[in-house]
Amino acid sequence: MTKPRIHVLALGGTIATRPDAAGAMQMGLGADDLVAAVPTLGKIAEIEAETVSRVGSHSLSFDQIHALASRIRALEADGIVVTQGTDTLEETGFLLDLLLDLDVPVVVTAAMRNPALTSPDGPGNLLAAVRVATDPWVRTHAKALGVMAVMLDEVYAAADVLKVHPTRINAFASTQTGPLAALVEDRVVPLSLPVRDAIVTARRRLGNTVPGKASPVALLWMALDEPGGLVEAMLAAPDRLGYRGAVIAAMGGGHTPERATDILVRLAAAMPAVVSPRAGGGPLLEKTYGGPSSEIALRKAGLIWGGRLHPLKARVLLETCLRAGLDRPAIIDVFAAWN
Ligand code: GLU
Repeated sequence: MTKPRIHVLALGGTIATRPDAAGAMQMGLGADDLVAAVPTLGKIAEIEAETVSRVGSHSLSFDQIHALASRIRALEADGIVVTQGTDTLEETGFLLDLLLDLDVPVVVTAAMRNPALTSPDGPGNLLAAVRVATDPWVRTHAKALGVMAVMLDEVYAAADVLKVHPTRINAFASTQTGPLAALVEDRVVPLSLPVRDAIVTARRRLGNTVPGKASPVALLWMALDEPGGLVEAMLAAPDRLGYRGAVIAAMGGGHTPERATDILVRLAAAMPAVVSPRAGGGPLLEKTYGGPSSEIALRKAGLIWGGRLHPLKARVLLETCLRAGLDRPAIIDVFAAWN
């Protein structure tokens, strides 16, 4: 029986590090090295290995992920595995999910423990990712599953997965929806299919490929007694700072400190400003509380409601909307699907 062809694209990250003379871990390994470290891969797939870059994911750019999406679209493979750093996997995976609408599995994986440590997780995660990409249930439901993240024998929807710990090996979770599947022995055990209406709405508005140039989006985390000074600076020097949109990580069901609210409302008049839950999951409230910085007031004042979308993912989505040239009503429509 012919084995599925899986294309492994390596971007960098802890999974691809090796120690320098001083013992510090440096980016260095390529896709061939990662694949060679897991001989079992050859038993389950025909592997094609491609090194895209050797960078930490904390330094990846939107442009690089757009280029990666174009490269993936051009491939003729039965499944795609991307290896990268863990730091921005929750963002890059979501962006790939917005950009790719393939009928083959696309899986992103990484490592928390570097290759110089005892029991590094990179090789096991790569094997699990390839297993997922070759699994019959996953392949049948590839479109419905969307881009997936595979870490520590669990499969997550890229649209929901979050990095929830900076160092632990079990650093990833889908806190709102739970995993799509689990791995045990040599099997992938299906658990659920994701609700993807919001992704479908976004893709319809964004078009198939997103052209345009980088459109920086500020991430403004609201916190106790925040005075709003950064927003003052954004409004005073819009060209110098260059932000074209903002995500406001709001408290609770969608609230901001009263002292910062006037300036946030002015920001929302100057550029698309999306409210997203700093608690990490939603949905946000829409019509419960009154008062000047309540969800009712903020919505009436023109802030865009980001629903259940985590602030990091809302920022990715808003950047993509702006890059694609969407106007305000279209952006509101895209985010409304997450409410
Ligand atoms: N900061 C690096 C990165 O994201 C290493 C972290 C990791 O891969 O876990 O690529």
